[in-house]
Amino acid sequence: MTTFKSLGLNASLLKAVEKLGFEAPTEVQEKVIPLLLQDKTDLVALAQTGTGKTAAFGFPMLQHIDLKTNKTQGLVLSPTRELCLQITNEMEQYGKELNSINIVAVYGGANITEQAKKIKRGAHIVVATPGRLKDMIRRKLVDISAIHFCVLDEADEMLNMGFYEDIKSILTHTPNTKNSWLFSATMPPEVHTIAKKFMKSPVEITVGTKNAGTKNVDHHYFIVGARERYTALRAVIGMHPTIFGCVFCRTKIETQKVAEKLIQDGHKAAALHGDLSQNQRDAVMQSFRKKKIQLLIATDVAARGIDVDDITHVINYQLPDEIETYTHRSGRTGRAGKLGTSIIFVTKSDRRKIKLIENKLQTKLKELEMPSAEEIFKNKVQHWVDQIKTTPLKSDLQPYFAEAHKSLEGLDKETLIELMLSKEFRSFDLNPKSLSFDQEKNTERRGDRKINAPEDKDRFFINLGSRDQYEWTTLKDFVRSFLNLGMDDVFQVEVMKNFSFFSTHKKHRDLVLKSFENLNLDNRRISVELTKKGKTFSSDKKKKKKSKFGSKKRF
Ligand code: AMP
Repeated sequence: MTTFKSLGLNASLLKAVEKLGFEAPTEVQEKVIPLLLQDKTDLVALAQTGTGKTAAFGFPMLQHIDLKTNKTQGLVLSPTRELCLQITNEMEQYGKELNSINIVAVYGGANITEQAKKIKRGAHIVVATPGRLKDMIRRKLVDISAIHFCVLDEADEMLNMGFYEDIKSILTHTPNTKNSWLFSATMPPEVHTIAKKFMKSPVEITVGTKNAGTKNVDHHYFIVGARERYTALRAVIGMHPTIFGCVFCRTKIETQKVAEKLIQDGHKAAALHGDLSQNQRDAVMQSFRKKKIQLLIATDVAARGIDVDDITHVINYQLPDEIETYTHRSGRTGRAGKLGTSIIFVTKSDRRKIKLIENKLQTKLKELEMPSAEEIFKNKVQHWVDQIKTTPLKSDLQPYFAEAHKSLEGLDKETLIELMLSKEFRSFDLNPKSLSFDQEKNTERRGDRKINAPEDKDRFFINLGSRDQYEWTTLKDFVRSFLNLGMDDVFQVEVMKNFSFFSTHKKHRDLVLKSFENLNLDNRRISVELTKKGKTFSSDKKKKKKSKFGSKKRF
């Protein structure tokens, strides 16, 4: 068996390996570590997150670092802040037994002065996102002119996110003599271009992906109409009430729409996409990890670098363009020896893509029939029964049991069960049409405005619109962050050319009106008005006149 020792790691690093409990090198480590321990190697490695690639470049880089000087010798570029922090954290653990190694993370959305201070104190290795690093180079807050090692991690994703120019610019500040190590989950032509342009005869390595195998993942698909996806999603959730899943959409707007619909249908869901601020993304991820959110609705880019075990289902709301991306998505479930399910919603015209996936995975995908409303309801009732059966008795309720027994004395078991069931499902719509595709089509057509809005909502007018470069996600974010409200507190945002509308719960009415009172942005008064059955209440006290928008019929 290959050991870390036989790969050539020094004693300090071997001690860290032991403490971390790594028993044997992974495939990528076995192939890469001996190569990178040599004096001069450029490398292109096709490997996904979860294969142990951080250690594959991390250990050799740490072994090469000269600790006698404080100069920055290693640079790791990564696409997202999450990944940047993850890499820093991993490398700190790998270098724990090295004397005073300094690894500094540099990423957007956090205080640049603090990061600059840390670098000034001496950073042997800088782990960075491209945008922030470029900014720091421009301000001369970091010096990468003498690095010996440069890692481009998740190169395909960095290029997907539009970092090509930033990367190019960063590399011009590095010496030609450095070793360049590129890691990527896929190899689109853009990655080849980077490798060709910036690397010298790189060694190319491919490793089998950790989750690409179908061993632990069942792959299923539903044939749906283009407008039936949300119905299909509800059906899947209905059949799996304990689902802990990740739903992949192609666009930011779609993630937000699906998340909002799910929330309004009573599910614990949240959207994760690139338009959220870092703090918002962190908050969403924390809630998901803690299982306060049951369904994470994400774009591929936003979900990169996120390692959450226990995901039971991956749902492909739409299929991605590249099959590799499908493999990557489905690899988020079936981890750590557990079983997972990957479900695809595919239209008839896209059915041929199922064949391509089958060829790639070398396995047959199972077509599922959409369950009927009755089946879903039966399943819900069974779940409720199972929950009751497995609920442990709450001992501190003991003193109240006798009283409850007495109060329910006249009821036989059958009646009691029927009453409990009626209470539990009193608001459940048993009309089979409630889950039919026809109804869904109407809902979709009405777009963001429909979706079972809460009764106790207020609708507001705001004099900002697409003319001011807002679209509904950005306007929603603006209003939310301005009011310091949560993700779901501002909804049904509709953006017109010169103005927009949004809704909040009634309890936020005063907050909304007061907060926007006397607000000027770029020398322009921002006006927010409550629209209600023909009357308008304005945040702008000086404005007595009723707004012409206030009496719009549809509100
Ligand atoms: P990565 O692909 O770098 O994101 O690594 C995925 C996870 O695998 C990280 O939590 C590492 O700590 C862990 N890991 C890396 N190498 C090994 C190994 N040889 N044995 C066990 N776990 C490992």
